[in-house]
Amino acid sequence: MTEIISQKTEPLLIVTDLDGTMLNHEDYRFDEAVPALERAHAAGIPVILNTSKTRAELLQLREALGNTDPFIIENGSALCIPEQHMHLEGTTTEITEGYVELPLGVGVAEIRDLLTQLKQKYRFETFSDWTQEELQKQTGLSAEAAPLALKRRYSEAVLWQDSDEKRREFLAELADHDLHGLQGGRFLSILGAEANKGAALERLKLLYRPVFGDTPVVIALGDSDNDIAMLEAADIAVLIANRARPAPEISAPEVIYSERTGAQGWNDVVQKLLDRYGAP
Ligand SMILES: [Mg+2]
Repeated sequence: MTEIISQKTEPLLIVTDLDGTMLNHEDYRFDEAVPALERAHAAGIPVILNTSKTRAELLQLREALGNTDPFIIENGSALCIPEQHMHLEGTTTEITEGYVELPLGVGVAEIRDLLTQLKQKYRFETFSDWTQEELQKQTGLSAEAAPLALKRRYSEAVLWQDSDEKRREFLAELADHDLHGLQGGRFLSILGAEANKGAALERLKLLYRPVFGDTPVVIALGDSDNDIAMLEAADIAVLIANRARPAPEISAPEVIYSERTGAQGWNDVVQKLLDRYGAP
């Protein structure tokens, strides 16, 4: 609690995508983002990870990063608030493995049932169709990381193999069932229609309001279409360069484009913003 209210700048909140943003697109490394991360941490600025990854993946990654802030999983499907940040969530008392989880999405069983039906009409594969070896080949994840990526509770990751026209039909059918698809770097995430990274950020801003007094300046960083809602819910939207595709169009009070990709681009822009707001 103290690290939040003792911010050494005007209230700032950093919210970030991982793959292709804070982590390199190719090798998932974050080393080059560490200087800016450590500086934000020392200044008491929360760094909220907002990702398509699962809670199991995030728990491991946060440990590697030394991050203890709340986080958002499976493309905005749930907010996870660590027990020590319970002051952010006054109404819920249920704590599982040290976290309060606030779901915005729907359960994965419902999503898998519908996808099983839709497989009769469209060509695609999902994470749960693959053996661990296939998953590692498709994602580039390590043998340790791949099983954690399979622990999905609110979304399914789809590798689309059909035409663009079929893709549009498929997305319309999802909408009829109160689901939607969000394109990340490699995969299409299928999740509850109400869940996206922006809706989760809005919920998180409300939770932080009593802590910050004034609403903080929200800096969001992303690289893909599934980040658009999060970037547009921010005061400063940062697009990390991705050689694989052009940056999405963003409407936000300020939009910054990094020159370098992945962790290097993340570090460059966050350092500049920390300079601007007078972080030590
Ligand atoms: Mg990304």
